Amino acid sequence: MKCHYTYLDNGKKVLIPECWPVAISFDMSQCICRDEKTFADFERERYNETVKVLREEIKALEHENAYLNRIIKNLRKKNKDK
Ligand SMILES: [Zn+2]
Repeated sequence: MKCHYTYLDNGKKVLIPECWPVAISFDMSQCICRDEKTFADFERERYNETVKVLREEIKALEHENAYLNRIIKNLRKKNKDK
């Protein structure tokens, strides 16, 4: 577990140190606790990354599609004029 805050019944915020720098200084910015990620956390991160990449691909393809549609439209117009 990493250093964290907890709240008492009276609503008071209390720092719970889990590493020495914070235990000594009571300064949360000194925390050196490492993220202990679960397998589910890794899976979620990978999933989110993949979704992000795919969304960007879709965006790029939509742009390309719009561009190609404009070309088609212009070609049709030119053919009509002949
Ligand atoms: Zn810590």
